[in-house]
Amino acid sequence: MKIEVVGSGNSWTKRLSTSYIIDDHILLDLPQGSFKTLFVNKKLEKIDTVIITHYHSDHWADFHLFIETLIHKNFSKKIKLFAPEDFWTRYDYLTSALNIKDNFEFAKKHILYSQLCNGKIFKIANLKFTTYKVLHIENSFGFVADNGILRVGFSGDTAICDSLQKILKKSNHIFIDVSSAELSKKHLNVNQALNLKKEFENVKFYAVHYSDSVIPLLRNKMQLTHDGEIFIF
Ligand SMILES: [Zn+2]
Repeated sequence: MKIEVVGSGNSWTKRLSTSYIIDDHILLDLPQGSFKTLFVNKKLEKIDTVIITHYHSDHWADFHLFIETLIHKNFSKKIKLFAPEDFWTRYDYLTSALNIKDNFEFAKKHILYSQLCNGKIFKIANLKFTTYKVLHIENSFGFVADNGILRVGFSGDTAICDSLQKILKKSNHIFIDVSSAELSKKHLNVNQALNLKKEFENVKFYAVHYSDSVIPLLRNKMQLTHDGEIFIF
């Protein structure tokens, strides 16, 4: 399994916000500001599936720009989209606010939307994804991607919760939200993430969604990811 970390940060750093490309064709989240890097580096051309973990702007705000590139190249196929409930209502609002209703109409024709829910299992090429509802905002999701040989977890944005434990129990590797040093009801902090790393000592941890203040605190304790870094498992 190939995991390209497009962005490793949260919104409060000059690094891009957290998103990934899996096996060159699955885009996991499309944060504000990520589109330029994806476009310039020609990373969007092979994308046939998009997964949105939740509807915060640092996870899907550039989706309309992805659609815009499809319009410009007269794209005629379908893109699979896995996203929380009410996608079309939200996308209608967003494209109305941005005055790009043609974008909405194009998306309606070319996006195959599948609603995420806790426990949903879906296959994309040789990967089986299991969906877990995590503790962040309403309808936020994490995943385990399984290629039959190993399993990679993505916590999504989350605080400590049962679903995170389930993701960790299933994973050989995990990309995990370590947003800051402070305690939060919506994210993991450094101490919580390090405690989980001790509890799940056979799982390899990679910090994502981290602020710059976390960097010295995780040094030599947990692997930090970097924008553009590629992992082959
Ligand atoms: Zn969020």
